[in-house]
Amino acid sequence: MSTDQTPRSTASWQAADAAHFLHPFTDFKSLAQKGSRIITRADGIYLWDSEGRKLLDAMSGLWCVNVGYGQQALVDAAARQMRELPFYNAFFQTATPPAIELAELLATVTPAGFQHVFFTGSGSEGNDTVVRMVRRYWDILGQPGRQVIISRNNAYHGSTMAGASLGGMSGMHAQGGLPIPNIVHIEQPYWVAHGQGMSRDAFGLKAAGWLEDKILAMGADKVAAFIGEPIQGAGGVIIPPATYWPEIQRICDKHGILLVSDEVICGFGRTGHWFGCETLGFKPDLMTFAKGVTSGYIPLGGVMVGERIARVLIERGGEFEHGYTYSGHPVACAVALANVRLIQQLDLVGHVHDDVGPYLAEGFASLRDHPLVGDAETCGLMGAILLVKDRARLTPFDAAVGDGGGIGMVCRGHCFSNGLVMRAVGNRMIIAPPLVITRAQIDEMMALIRRCLDLTLADARREGWL
Ligand SMILES: *Cc1c(COP(=O)(O)O)cnc(C)c1O
Repeated sequence: MSTDQTPRSTASWQAADAAHFLHPFTDFKSLAQKGSRIITRADGIYLWDSEGRKLLDAMSGLWCVNVGYGQQALVDAAARQMRELPFYNAFFQTATPPAIELAELLATVTPAGFQHVFFTGSGSEGNDTVVRMVRRYWDILGQPGRQVIISRNNAYHGSTMAGASLGGMSGMHAQGGLPIPNIVHIEQPYWVAHGQGMSRDAFGLKAAGWLEDKILAMGADKVAAFIGEPIQGAGGVIIPPATYWPEIQRICDKHGILLVSDEVICGFGRTGHWFGCETLGFKPDLMTFAKGVTSGYIPLGGVMVGERIARVLIERGGEFEHGYTYSGHPVACAVALANVRLIQQLDLVGHVHDDVGPYLAEGFASLRDHPLVGDAETCGLMGAILLVKDRARLTPFDAAVGDGGGIGMVCRGHCFSNGLVMRAVGNRMIIAPPLVITRAQIDEMMALIRRCLDLTLADARREGWL
């Protein structure tokens, strides 16, 4: 429409959107009736819509815009690389400088023991790669019976066939005949749902024990790997007890099972270390990454391959029959290089760990006296607020309040109307703001959060939901 002199109206965008664009994870009919909100530009931690309304983006787009919007270094890196070499593949004994340099840089920012990377176009493709790679690893070692991958209920590992199968979202499994064979799930380490009455630390050990129960039930010689997000993101920012991950590590080591950390959200500074496994205290064999590797400016994902696996694949594996057209895409890798260097230059990991992470934790702690808030917790720049009817008993609201969407959707509605993007997962309100956020901007965000909680409480009192 570049020849059109008058800018399109919101109504015109919405009509064309409803007529042609099938959105991901969307009830198409109901969205077409309501009309999409059209986001037209962004800067720093703020978005603007087609009506000129400003929103504080406390979700970093979709957990990805770690360096914030409008970073010229990333724009320049893309433009430069597009002019120089917009595409070449890495299939036929060829490589491009940005992919090589990014692989080299990732080996320095990831924990010790990671020297190799396999690039993909997304997090989902990364987890598909994990499934094929761990099975291939056991195959090469003469243990092809090790096929089973253990994951967790309410995990999110993407939306391809393998990604959705690894994930533990019942709604996704209900469509399309999932999970695929040899992927099984244990319960998540969510204290509110499964641990009340125990100390959190005791619950962490109990929840990790479910992994050992499952390994023994399947037979350890059938199990290839365990996969988990250090902190479940899409599942509602479920921060496990401190005892959980070290015990998971111990169990995997004891049974010789590979440990996979899905770092798609937790990676690249989100939790106050470069990777979530460093914050949560474990050493995985494989790490999936995406989102924050480019701050979402362009799609890129991949798998960091620990030396235990890399040495076997390289020295004994022959050809690994797997890859994508865009594995190591030079423009995506050039943007990732600029992004990772910017995270280093701005010391965003230190900024989260020492400054805004602790500051956000204080802000969230101060929400705990609000009548709607059963719990408010953070890790680095991820946070969740549990909305409850009764704070002493953590009684949930009726799931159907507010036109059937539940209390979280009521609160989310107030957020959008008041200039704040905060996401609802059931009765948990979650945030993951850009890592460049300042203390003053956290104050602004906390004031908006409080206002939206107050408006939600007023609704609950007026409508008799309490
Ligand atoms: C978003 C996400 C994925 C999937 O990444 P895509 O790029 O959407 O395919 C996988 N794992 C986790 C933990 C995620 O949050």
